[in-house]
Amino acid sequence: MGHGSREIKINKRRLLHDLNAVSRIGLGDHGSVTRLVFSIKELRSRQLLIHLMTQAGLEIHIDRIGNIFGRLNGSNPRAPAVLAGSHLDTVVQGGKFDGPVGVIGALEAVRTLKENKVPLSSPVEVVCFIGEESSRFGFSTLGSSLVAGQVHKEDLANAVDAQGTKLEDILSSLGIYRDNLASLKRDPETLKAYLELHIEQGPILEAKNKKIGVVTSIAAPTRFKVVFTGQADHSGTTPMEMRKDALVAAANLITYIEEVCSEFSSMDKGRVVGTVGAMKIEPGVINAIPGKAELSVDIRSITAEAKERVANLVRERAREIAQRREITVDLLPIRDELPVALDERLLPLIKEICEEKNVPYEIMPSGAGHDAMQMAKITPAGMIFIPSKRGISHSPMEWTDPEDICLGAQLLLETIVRVANEEI
Ligand SMILES: [Zn+2]
Repeated sequence: MGHGSREIKINKRRLLHDLNAVSRIGLGDHGSVTRLVFSIKELRSRQLLIHLMTQAGLEIHIDRIGNIFGRLNGSNPRAPAVLAGSHLDTVVQGGKFDGPVGVIGALEAVRTLKENKVPLSSPVEVVCFIGEESSRFGFSTLGSSLVAGQVHKEDLANAVDAQGTKLEDILSSLGIYRDNLASLKRDPETLKAYLELHIEQGPILEAKNKKIGVVTSIAAPTRFKVVFTGQADHSGTTPMEMRKDALVAAANLITYIEEVCSEFSSMDKGRVVGTVGAMKIEPGVINAIPGKAELSVDIRSITAEAKERVANLVRERAREIAQRREITVDLLPIRDELPVALDERLLPLIKEICEEKNVPYEIMPSGAGHDAMQMAKITPAGMIFIPSKRGISHSPMEWTDPEDICLGAQLLLETIVRVANEEI
């Protein structure tokens, strides 16, 4: 195909219009967007996508969990397919771009290819993965993990939302049980590659005045819950030396996490980051000593060694704190994943396309997790980043210039054509 594809241009107006339509679903205060996995809003965004795919004449397949695949056949319908997509679910009060840019961007690319009857030898599929964000169950990349065969029954044990709803119960209502998790796995033989367009969610591209990020690897999180159990007592009658305050123990640990991660935060030490993003206190009233404190720990790094080392230090410190304060601690694993390297053939290909089009690019790792890190386990995966204003994401302040979104989708189109028609 080569040169011909270069004149094929996406329809910018249509892309931005559809992106806008998605972002109106779940719109809240200050322009925030909330579409939690398996909520009505999230379901409506998926219905809109199905509608748009139908309009575009794509062949739609929806698997049992609700991952959506919209397929455009190439000259050889039996050839392995090139998948391109991302997710439509969001965090609580998130932004308009994290996820939808990759889904609607891929849709725009594929419908442009179809309209222009661009010859493709492999089929191309637009994909929307369910539940990429972990905000509801502490479980990230749910849909793509199932497609990649990466969900194991023990992963579901601690996945419960703030209302007490178990992820496992929702899954079983969809016919997905501990013993058939593997049935959602996609046969790798049917895949040629997976491509994902996504906002950077960090400040590097803007700071370096680059338009595109070509992603080398994805930092994966180690996540666990720490539950300190002391003794709830009267805040007025219990002397300081007799207290078993679970929240003070938690506070000690949180401060330690900041300290130890800062020690390992430089690039050569593994760029470790650690966060306690959620906490539950019992009884949680002004006149009682906290008897129970449950905190979520999320540790990430670009190397498995650094992440493991820091996670172990944090676990050790939690035990020490509990021992010193004569209270108990439980460490409940949520998920422990290895950083993932993206495909070594797709990376130079995307780089080459940037060079051909004179687009300033940056070769960079991703600090945030993405569906691509799961898909990389079953097929060659590549990611294209576009700039995030001031690096902000998971916030209503999230912003990417429309021109950058269009450029990203255009580059995705070029990449899809090359991957569909060439040996990789
Ligand atoms: Zn995302």
